[in-house]
Amino acid sequence: MKRNRLVAGNWKMHGSLAANRKLLDAIVAGAAGLGGVECAVCAPFPYLAQAAECLRGSKVAWGAQNMSEHLEGAYTGEVAVSMLKDFGCRYVIVGHSERRQLYGETDAQAAAKFAAVKAAGMTPILCVGETLQERDSGRTEEVVGRQLDRVLEKNSFEKAVLAYEPVWAIGTGRNATPEQAQAVHAFLRKRVAAETTILYGGSVKPQNAAALFAMPDIDGGLIGGASLVAKDFIDIVKAAKT
Ligand code: PEP
Repeated sequence: MKRNRLVAGNWKMHGSLAANRKLLDAIVAGAAGLGGVECAVCAPFPYLAQAAECLRGSKVAWGAQNMSEHLEGAYTGEVAVSMLKDFGCRYVIVGHSERRQLYGETDAQAAAKFAAVKAAGMTPILCVGETLQERDSGRTEEVVGRQLDRVLEKNSFEKAVLAYEPVWAIGTGRNATPEQAQAVHAFLRKRVAAETTILYGGSVKPQNAAALFAMPDIDGGLIGGASLVAKDFIDIVKAAKT
């Protein structure tokens, strides 16, 4: 089965109604003529309804950046998977390194969120990645393998997306080289269903996207900073076209 190409934007905690409207309109216009690659934006919770409305009928899907591992109940401030589903959400980023590092999210929580997203019929984008210290001590495969294995203990990886995001490359302007990324993608690919889309994330820009996406096991990107600039995001989507 052919693997899908996908470029997903992670807006993180950026945006406003006015800025989003401009960005979404420009992305919809830019994506209109593009075939062969899916594209999606993952907006902050308050703007998901706006994203759903602006993207309706377009080629651009939308997703959330996180959600609760609990299905409902007394969890003040949390968002349930059923609430995302109500709005027609397609993707949910799970286990992003900022969730793991800043909010202490564990492998077990990421695995529970992954299971909940799949059970709701949506597509999880599971992020795995090592810190610089872990890479420098030769532990990259051990770390990403452990993060993935925790999910695979109770879930199959069908109909899910995997994103390799080295922590040292996120928001730092320092991307993994295509060869470094390819080596980890090849390692990960052996553990998941053959048709799994595996994205690279970490300072992807229009200037480095084509070289990364040319690697045999890199199927697209999860894009942070550059997804906030419509032209850059569309140029990255274009670079992922097969
Ligand atoms: C991310 O947050 O998932 C990411 C890859 O960020 P950036 O592209 O800014 O490094």
